[in-house]
Amino acid sequence: MKLYNTLSRLTEDFRPLNPPYVTLYCCGPTVYDFSHIGHYRTYVGNDVIRKTLTYLGYKVKHVMNITDVGHLSDDADAGEDKMEKGAKKYKKTVWDVAEFYTDFFFKANDAFNINRPDIVCKATKHIGDIINLIKKIEKKGFTYMTDEALYFDVTKFDGYDRLSGQNTDEKKQAVREEVVVDKNKKHPADFVLWFKRTGRFKNHTMHWDSPWGDGFPGWHIECSAMSMKYLGDQIDIHTGGVDHIPLHHPNEIAQSESATGKHPFVKYWVHHNFLLVDNQKMSKSLNNFFTIEDIKKNRIHPLAIRLLFLQTHYRKEMNFTWESARSAQEAYYRLKEYVSVLKNQSERVNLSQEKMEKIEKFKQNFVAAVSSDFQLPQALAVVWQMIKSNIPSADKLDLLFDFDNILGLGLNELETYTIPQTVNQLAERRLKARLEKDFGKSDELRKKIESFGYTIIDTENGFDLKKRN
Ligand SMILES: [Zn+2]
Repeated sequence: MKLYNTLSRLTEDFRPLNPPYVTLYCCGPTVYDFSHIGHYRTYVGNDVIRKTLTYLGYKVKHVMNITDVGHLSDDADAGEDKMEKGAKKYKKTVWDVAEFYTDFFFKANDAFNINRPDIVCKATKHIGDIINLIKKIEKKGFTYMTDEALYFDVTKFDGYDRLSGQNTDEKKQAVREEVVVDKNKKHPADFVLWFKRTGRFKNHTMHWDSPWGDGFPGWHIECSAMSMKYLGDQIDIHTGGVDHIPLHHPNEIAQSESATGKHPFVKYWVHHNFLLVDNQKMSKSLNNFFTIEDIKKNRIHPLAIRLLFLQTHYRKEMNFTWESARSAQEAYYRLKEYVSVLKNQSERVNLSQEKMEKIEKFKQNFVAAVSSDFQLPQALAVVWQMIKSNIPSADKLDLLFDFDNILGLGLNELETYTIPQTVNQLAERRLKARLEKDFGKSDELRKKIESFGYTIIDTENGFDLKKRN
């Protein structure tokens, strides 16, 4: 297998530290807001990596963190604090808010057929590990203290710029936890390991005792602490969004390597590119911040969105439109329809030498695509070629289900979604008629749908179609 390593900026042969075992750490969500389709793209990407490695015979241990400690205060004057805002709005504690968004995140993950990582670890449950790691870093002389916080001194760490390729000295003050600048900070790139519950953080809701006083950890340290705890000092693959290249991941490297003295902390860094919506960055103010609920409201099957993601290579920027989602949905239903047709004709026939070779070739091409830095668009092209080929139905089905171990499109699952396109179109037209209060037409279309053997049920967000028994 080959994969692109952000650290070397090269596509490299994949050689895990301890084959066939592979340690995989993925930066997880912050749970004080809704996860949106940009996040889903990253997590589907992580899932594809894990499924591919497993398919290729590696024994993967997959760990993901949940950032449930934010930089949050009870003081409304301290600004827009999402967790606090959420807590007030719903009259809940920050802990409840974290739990609410964590549940939301995992429900969306399930809808996208994303496997749960082997270990999902919450920052708030690992404060002891975090403190121990900071102590190690401190003992080795990489830290300094101000009135507000304990900092990591990046000038003491060799190669801080390796991953980002940025010159640290030119780095602007754009660190997430420091909208207000601590004037005693020595270098703009220095980052917080431990915040003290003082000054502007006086009323911070989540806080713990530590050798540096009552307070809470900086954002970056949890990933170093938890990856070390569950995967050891050095790991094979670490993933995240491209937005982590300039800051979060260099900080993780600095923390981990300064503590252990072992290099490299991560052998292969994999970064997922951004998702734009209508060629714009997603934001609530632009009203293009879409969650799983919006996908459902638009009557798009989440697995059609998964297919849509697979159509763009993970290192390319991707532009989401509802139109592209609908065409992915058409392709998705077509695939499901193929499966149900193939299932009805799946009698085994003896294979000629030529057909056996053809089947083998499809499999080789598929594996070659996924093993080449996770080229899923190419892998999907192989799927469509294979469907259109003249190999017997039973063998097509075998290959489809085999490939689906990586694609994760639920091709062998219940037939609920294998509704013919005609019926779907009729249902869409009926919904339109209903919204226009043209009940005569709506009734007529319902009868037509029923003549295809389907029942249509009106729901809050549109309709549901069920096959009649
Ligand atoms: Zn992280």
